[in-house]
Amino acid sequence: MATKICDTCGERIDFDAKRHGSTGECPRCGELLRFSDPLPRPHKKTQQSAPSEVKIFLFGCSTVVLLGFLSCAGLIMWGADIERRQNAGKTAIERQFSNWDGSHPAVVSAVKSAMHNPNSFDHVKTQFRETDSQLVVYMTYRGTNAFGAVVTNQVIARLTKSGQLVSIDAN
Ligand SMILES: [Zn+2]
Repeated sequence: MATKICDTCGERIDFDAKRHGSTGECPRCGELLRFSDPLPRPHKKTQQSAPSEVKIFLFGCSTVVLLGFLSCAGLIMWGADIERRQNAGKTAIERQFSNWDGSHPAVVSAVKSAMHNPNSFDHVKTQFRETDSQLVVYMTYRGTNAFGAVVTNQVIARLTKSGQLVSIDAN
C-alpha cells in the first residue's frame, strides 16, 4: 500500500501501489487526483546545499587566516634571517656597537654620566681601532654645557676587548 494526501482537502488516501501514477477521485471531496508518492519529500537539495555553502565559507575563512599566518611567519623569519646575516659577518668586537647608530653603549653611558645635561646627549659618530690588548673608541657627540650652549666634543675611550671600560678622556 501507498498513501496519497489530497491536495485540496488534505484527506489521507491509502491506495494499492499498483495504481501508482493513475488518476482517481478523492473519496472525501471528489477532487480528481493522481496517485503518486504520498508525503512531500524533504527538500534534499536545499538541506544539502546550506551546509556545503557553510563549509565553503568556513574553508574560505580558514584559508585566509592560514595565508595571513603564513605571511606573518614568513616576514618574521625573513627579518630574523636578515639580522642573522648582518651579525654573521661581524667580529665579536663589532657586535659590541649599536646596530642603530654605531655607538658603543659603555662609552655612551660613561659620557652621559659626566655630562651637565645627560638628556641633551646627541651621538654624532663613533670610530674605533684595535690594539694588541685593547679596543680604542673615538666618539664625537653634541650636548649642552653649563651655559646652555650646544657644544661638540670628542672622547677617546679605552676598553678591554670584551667591552669593559678602562679609561675615558676628552680629546
Ligand atoms: Zn479531497
